[in-house]
Amino acid sequence: MLVADDDRLRTVDEHLSIVLDSIGSIDTIELTLLDAQGLLLAENISSDFPLPSFDNSAMDGYAVRAIDTRDASSAEPVQLQVVGDVAAGAKSRSGMGPGLAMRIMTGAPIPAGADAVIPLEETDRGLARVTLHRPVHTGNCIRHTGEDVEAGAPALGAGAALGPQQLGLLAAIGRDRVVVRPRPRVIILSTGSELIEVGRRPSFGEVIDSNSYMIAAAAKDAGADARRIGIVPDDHAKLLDTLESQLLRADVLITSGGVSMGAFDVVKEALSELGTVEFCKIAMQPGKPQGFGHLGDKIPIFCLPGNPVSSLVSFEAFVRPAIRKLLGKRQLQRATVQAVALEGATSPPGIRQYRRGVLHREATGGYGVSFVGGAGSHLIGSLALSNCLVVIPEEETEVVAGRLVTVMPLLLANR
Ligand code: AMP
Ligand code: MG
Repeated sequence: MLVADDDRLRTVDEHLSIVLDSIGSIDTIELTLLDAQGLLLAENISSDFPLPSFDNSAMDGYAVRAIDTRDASSAEPVQLQVVGDVAAGAKSRSGMGPGLAMRIMTGAPIPAGADAVIPLEETDRGLARVTLHRPVHTGNCIRHTGEDVEAGAPALGAGAALGPQQLGLLAAIGRDRVVVRPRPRVIILSTGSELIEVGRRPSFGEVIDSNSYMIAAAAKDAGADARRIGIVPDDHAKLLDTLESQLLRADVLITSGGVSMGAFDVVKEALSELGTVEFCKIAMQPGKPQGFGHLGDKIPIFCLPGNPVSSLVSFEAFVRPAIRKLLGKRQLQRATVQAVALEGATSPPGIRQYRRGVLHREATGGYGVSFVGGAGSHLIGSLALSNCLVVIPEEETEVVAGRLVTVMPLLLANR
């Protein structure tokens, strides 16, 4: 069991390293193409056949022998007899002799005997005979077998991110299923005896559970297969039973609430006793109390503080990078930008502060950021107005208006 030193605050970076070091990988799975969108390929792929798989026309035009067009000019056009049509989808290869031409459509197989295509617009479009005013060179407007993808050559490597372009290629080479790193199954539950489900007006003392929606949405945005399983009251046995019942279905468990010092902070009390989940204090604001460890067969569990702003900031700091590691992504942290602070702020020494902000592009091209909401981590109204977190590093105690600050835009990520 890990024992946290109660007095010393752990830095965000230290805690994140502990979290990431303990995150393993999930078994790969085979998925159909559209289910694999946004995931990373876990196999090396080559095509069994070349692309294009037969020589075909790049244009609508006439298939000819280049040598027959050699003497064509405006002054002395060449005429060729048109002996037939080749349409895209033609099942057998047609053939043509010297001095002849065939009308051909884009994608149609080049007839045996032809070695060039002359586009329709460079001819008189004749049906029985076609008139050409200039020569074409061998191979003109022909898409050659294997010029795009060679049979047996690597087409996509393990680790490739599967976006529209990659899925298109996989379909083109005949793959309808691929082995990928799966979306981690993330189970989210909220703890608190004051919590009720959304849909009912709260009575005195009741609070609607918003965290499980917010965190489930954030987990989904990070690429997880996120499922909220609702509310658990502040009750040891119910919490442990609920977590136990989810172990087989989860790659990651997330709880919110119950991790502070209060007498009813059941998550901390109940899970500390198991000895596999550690509760500690992090030098960050908000999000100081955090729980992290493992349950069952090494399923990572994050116990986030209950205040909505703390919960989301904690998710961003620790859970999102963990989900991305499970997905196999190389870039675990969100990208940050530098923005001009439109107002000043203070931050306690030794603490990394995450302030909610509104980031916008200035007319000059750079970014500007203003703060929204105060320090209170219950302020979900202003949280909803924000589109970024302003990160004030441990060593800085003041943000000076007009100077640059580090900003983490909370844009919807590529899935
Ligand atoms: P806790 O971390 O359990 O001490 O909760 C801190 C504050 O966050 C309390 O005011 C709770 O009512 C509130 N809170 C806890 N969980 C949630 C939740 N799931 N949705 C909304 N507010 C919550
Ligand atoms: Mg609570």
